[in-house]
Amino acid sequence: DPVLVARNLKKTYVSGEVRTRALRDVNFTIYEGEFVVILGPSGSGKSTLMNLIGGMDSITEGELFYKDQDIHKFNRRELTRYRRNVVGFVFQFYNLLPSLNCYENVKLSAELVRKPLPVEEVLEKVGLGERHRHFPSQLSGGEQQRVAVARAIVKVPELLLCDEPTGALDTDTSQQILELLQRINKEYRKTVIVISHDDTILQYADRCLTIRDGVLSEEGVG
Ligand code: ADP
Ligand code: ADP
Repeated sequence: DPVLVARNLKKTYVSGEVRTRALRDVNFTIYEGEFVVILGPSGSGKSTLMNLIGGMDSITEGELFYKDQDIHKFNRRELTRYRRNVVGFVFQFYNLLPSLNCYENVKLSAELVRKPLPVEEVLEKVGLGERHRHFPSQLSGGEQQRVAVARAIVKVPELLLCDEPTGALDTDTSQQILELLQRINKEYRKTVIVISHDDTILQYADRCLTIRDGVLSEEGVG
């Protein structure tokens, strides 16, 4: 079943006299349980699209449906619920809270929802069973990203949105993080969307969408 549908989606940023058409006309359908990669160069509109899907920014024109609900028409309460319960975010620079250890970073996220997974289980799942009491500054980049993945999946989100999740990591560590995301996609049967400018990521995707100058198109993966 479709989980996300975009129809003639447009986003224009306006600051003073300057108008930037970040998304010009975006159409896609993403199905439940897919691992989708959105590939495009810097400035092509990837983060903008991710922010719209995550309910973090307003749509200029067009429609964006999560299941049968138009995200654009959510009221404040519905939007908060959507961001908290439906979406899990993973960012390029991890965005962990530096004053909290691994366990606490994940626990804080778990407390946002009614039925989280046990924190311990999730840390185990991402390969950090031994690192509960470490603070972000005591971990490698790859380990910090594992904590970020744990923090997202502990809420059991329907959509796992990953914005350049390997952008700050070396090649080997990147592969490990992508394998982890792939494993989570399969085991929990949740939809994973990863944006990247690096096409080595394609081997992990069920499907690839390409974005260029705010225009999205579909390309099959071999
Ligand atoms: P990508 O993630 O592919 O690098 P972005 O979605 O960040 O692309 O940016 C797409 C375009 O929109 C770029 O031209 C960028 O400069 C512009 N843009 C992004 N965010 C803003 C903003 N908050 N205000 C104005 N312009 C923005
Ligand atoms: P949960 O609520 O996920 O079941 P608990 O809070 O009961 O977890 O704690 C389970 C175990 O997790 C504890 O035995 C402890 O070892 C570990 N733990 C709990 N809080 C922390 C913390 N702040 N930092 C590190 N480990 C913790």
